[in-house]
Amino acid sequence: MRPARALIDLSALRHNHRVARELAGGKVLAVVKANAYGHGAVRCARALEGETDGFGVACIEEALELREAGIRAPILLLEGFFEADELALIDAHDLWCVVHSPWQIDAIERARPEKPFTVWLKLDSGMHRLGLAAEDYRAALQRLRAMPQVGEVVAMTHFARADELDCDRTRQQLDLFNQVCADTSLPTSLGNSPALLGWPQTQNDWSRPGLMLYGASPFVGAHSVADRLRPVMTVESGIISVRDLAAGEPVGYGARFVTRRPSRIGVVALGYADGYPQFVPNGAPVAIDGRPGDLVGRVSMDMLTVDLTDHPAAGLGSRVELWGTQVRVHDLAAHCGTSAYQLLCALKRVPRVYIDA
Ligand SMILES: *Cc1c(COP(=O)(O)O)cnc(C)c1O
Repeated sequence: MRPARALIDLSALRHNHRVARELAGGKVLAVVKANAYGHGAVRCARALEGETDGFGVACIEEALELREAGIRAPILLLEGFFEADELALIDAHDLWCVVHSPWQIDAIERARPEKPFTVWLKLDSGMHRLGLAAEDYRAALQRLRAMPQVGEVVAMTHFARADELDCDRTRQQLDLFNQVCADTSLPTSLGNSPALLGWPQTQNDWSRPGLMLYGASPFVGAHSVADRLRPVMTVESGIISVRDLAAGEPVGYGARFVTRRPSRIGVVALGYADGYPQFVPNGAPVAIDGRPGDLVGRVSMDMLTVDLTDHPAAGLGSRVELWGTQVRVHDLAAHCGTSAYQLLCALKRVPRVYIDA
């Protein structure tokens, strides 16, 4: 059997949720969209169901997967519905729904649900992606509040630059949100992971952590709070071939690496078809039998190569960690010009093995 696998540590997930809860002050909506950032949505939701106050997903397909698996907790559709006919399913499966556009309000007005919808009305406080403009928000709220189809309303917004701790934009977004929503007496929902970890002044009724639950930091460099998180996913594989090469020999496609000394090169059974980035620089961090090592050469579809020259005890069958408890995914991301979000979500083909210690 191919040695590639992703270990998913559910106790680390719960630990990170507890950190989020502590920072949040209020309720926590655990974001498990995109298959729980590659970790497996159903397993992660089951692991958190006893602790969290609800789940956030991107679309009704993801919500129904959780409901079909028996998850009874509240589930919020973070982008609301894409088509009005989803409202029947939202009603039937008791889902909560973000409203970000006037057409969605029209659709709710035309709907005849059995029970009133819970609506999270989204303000565009400066990200300029989803949400109502500040000048339209109060009128939209009044319309929704007057509708028998609508029950509870939560005021929400989303930060664009909370991962930049020295940038004033988060404060500006917060000010606008407070200005627009201040006297509405609505429950509020603001923080994603970087806001929770880095902007305590954004504490509110409902936080929406995603990335931090999986133990990755949204920040570049060390951060005292983010450093308390425990990595949930460890991606590893084994060495399936070893080459002894003279100095000056190329390795792999395009000769992206040429040995500078007599070298031992190990071939690892994991490649870009598994979600590892294809174009990482030579020297990207790996851990070989638990010791720090270097990736060398271009990543192939099913394999990649590492330098074993300074790892004399390593060889066929040695375990290589690509990211996880030793190689932190955000450090690898910084090394290859991407983000921890992208690396985690990209994982595929590799079987997930769940640990729940
Ligand atoms: C994805 C998402 C989150 C979670 O963001 P993280 O940075 O992963 O914590 C929160 N809110 C909304 C609206 C989202 O789309």
